Amino acid sequence: MQLIDQAVIGLNNLTVKGRRARVKPEELLILLPTCLQAASCEQNVIGDLAHCLRCGRCRIGPLLELAERYGVKVAVAKGGRLAVNRAKAPEVKAIVAVACEKELRTGIFACLPKPVLAVTNERPNGPCCETDVDIDAVEQAIQWLTRTS
Ligand code: SF4
Repeated sequence: MQLIDQAVIGLNNLTVKGRRARVKPEELLILLPTCLQAASCEQNVIGDLAHCLRCGRCRIGPLLELAERYGVKVAVAKGGRLAVNRAKAPEVKAIVAVACEKELRTGIFACLPKPVLAVTNERPNGPCCETDVDIDAVEQAIQWLTRTS
């Protein structure tokens, strides 16, 4: 199933780029999964990302800095349904989504017709536990969707 999900994600990302989707920074939402957070962290980043201390123990801090640098919105969502609800907000016109293949595939279809550039997370500790993500891949997705030409 993971191979099918990967194929769907790859095709989706190609299609989004083929549509030449482009939005203003304030219309772009980066959606992050809770499993990026360090397991030992007690900060309530789901309630409010301002609680993140940017301590360097997980990728949430660098991703917050990235979002600030580009002036885009960022949120941590617990579960696919909450992530989709957040993505469907009228002020959100495009999404950079970080998650596992299964969540990304579901989210891409649930958010249609909004463009979603999907970045698969890395799972060195197994599923749903202290996952990681390629920050450069997230930045490239932001740059693509907010480009000016
Ligand atoms: S970077 Fe933020 S979310 Fe990650 S462990 Fe530190 S305080 Fe917690």
